[in-house]
Amino acid sequence: MKIKVLTIKEDILGANEKKARSNQDRLDEHGILAVNIMSSPGAGKTSLIWQTLDRLKSESRIAVIEGDVASQVDADKLHQHGVPIIQINIPGGCHLDANMVENALDNLPLKELDLIIIENVGNLVCPAEFDLGEHKRVVLSSMPEGDDKPYKYPLMFTEADVVLVNKLDLLPHLDFNASYFCEGITRLNPTVKILQVSCKTGEGLEQWFSWLLAQMKDGKARQAA
Ligand code: MG
Ligand code: ZN
Repeated sequence: MKIKVLTIKEDILGANEKKARSNQDRLDEHGILAVNIMSSPGAGKTSLIWQTLDRLKSESRIAVIEGDVASQVDADKLHQHGVPIIQINIPGGCHLDANMVENALDNLPLKELDLIIIENVGNLVCPAEFDLGEHKRVVLSSMPEGDDKPYKYPLMFTEADVVLVNKLDLLPHLDFNASYFCEGITRLNPTVKILQVSCKTGEGLEQWFSWLLAQMKDGKARQAA
């Protein structure tokens, strides 16, 4: 299967909400769970998706929507897993919006999917402002970025359903204060789930996989309802 590359202009915020709702209706019709993964560049989104495909693709039907300003480097990497991938390039843009995701959905075999993983553009600011129609928002932060991120980028962490803290394998070399970091998040978002993981060694990822599988079950329930 070839990677499809879409180049789409940004949508305006008001129209975005409407389109996001229609995306979600469409996903629910097919019992598909969609997760929106957001982080700064280099936090490990693609590695997380790589590990997720590796572990879950035998039991779940997964597709990936890749958002990038330019290039299809990440899509090429993930393509090795043989799952459907849509690359969205946004020249001059810095986030995905619902219109772009709608275009991607038009190009995916929705009847044959359980899960769509959306890799948003690496940016801790405006991706949080644009609802894509996803069911769950995942924020990935990495320990080398520092423990102050929740204090500096509150919206991103306020809206998260789960926060993954990546690069746990580097912790011995860093001054990362995990309790300060977690405190910054729970002040904004008391019910959020925070998982410390290493996408390199796989440490902690089992919790992420079981969380994702549980959300997929809910997706099937939504379809049945
Ligand atoms: Mg990436
Ligand atoms: Zn933006």
